[in-house]
Amino acid sequence: AKEQGRGSICCFDPQMDAAPRDRRSLEGDLRSAIRRGDIELVYQPVMSTQTGLITSVEALARWLHPEKGPISPHIFIPLAEESGLIVQLGETLLRQACSDAASWSSSVRVAVNLSPLQFQAGDLCATVAGILKETGLEANRLQLEVTEGLVIRDVERTFSELERLRALGIQILMDDFGVGYSSLSYFQRFPFDKVKIDKSFVDQITTSRAARAIVQAIVGLGDTLGMGVVAEGVETEDQMRLLVEAGCTHLQGYLFSPPVRKSVLQESFLLPLGA
Ligand code: C2E
Ligand code: CA
Ligand code: CA
Ligand code: CA
Repeated sequence: AKEQGRGSICCFDPQMDAAPRDRRSLEGDLRSAIRRGDIELVYQPVMSTQTGLITSVEALARWLHPEKGPISPHIFIPLAEESGLIVQLGETLLRQACSDAASWSSSVRVAVNLSPLQFQAGDLCATVAGILKETGLEANRLQLEVTEGLVIRDVERTFSELERLRALGIQILMDDFGVGYSSLSYFQRFPFDKVKIDKSFVDQITTSRAARAIVQAIVGLGDTLGMGVVAEGVETEDQMRLLVEAGCTHLQGYLFSPPVRKSVLQESFLLPLGA
């Protein structure tokens, strides 16, 4: 760091020049990866605590960069959002997930993550309806996961779009609940089908009374409002036991299965074809 005038310190960082260029080149790579269909989906099972059976799978995007190796969605989803590519990517992934699910030998639901930006561009409901028709997937087998970040911008528009999607028969899930800008009032505005408890509470449930109380409170809310409660990121038997005791209706996490390729899902988790 070198001094620059009084009181202000200018940190000279040789990486500072490279960063925007790297970013632009990664953005270019992302653009071509989307065009070539190189962003793929893996699927993670979600189990019912009542039956122990898989009721749905969450579709999660994967990008294997030809030189850089796997790039985390924590990197490329925000990059796609900042560059506007998310609308096209989101639509491509939704089509892929619906087409995969339509081919499965079991009627498990498929959950697709939506970026808040997909609600702002064009007519999302028409796009989704078109994809269902095109792929032949029944609407009641599709779940859309939305985060609370969604609701911040245009509340009225967002809720009316959610109503229209739900009217098609699609389930709407509130994802990552309890972190960020969560507001309990969302549940007064919209009848979410399920709420997903963020992994951070699951991580702490064995050690923190507060985390246990929060999980219990969300389950209570779910009971009263007829909303299923999914705990995500379940890694240990101890977490599972406490989450079942608390009354979660569904569990998802490495304890049961990591996200897997669709061939593995079909072979190891879904009913064999023809059975
Ligand atoms: P998310 O929607 O909260 O997804 C759950 C994340 O937790 C996934 O990370 C999943 O692989 C990971 N996970 C599941 N079980 C466990 C566990 O037991 N332990 C641990 N440590 N992790 C677990 P992933 O696939 O890296 O995705 C990260 C985030 O990127 C997602 O968080 C979601 O916000 C976003 N994302 C991923 N795919 C898509 C997509 O197709 N569209 C959009 N808009 N966002 C996506
Ligand atoms: Ca999710
Ligand atoms: Ca989540
Ligand atoms: Ca999360």
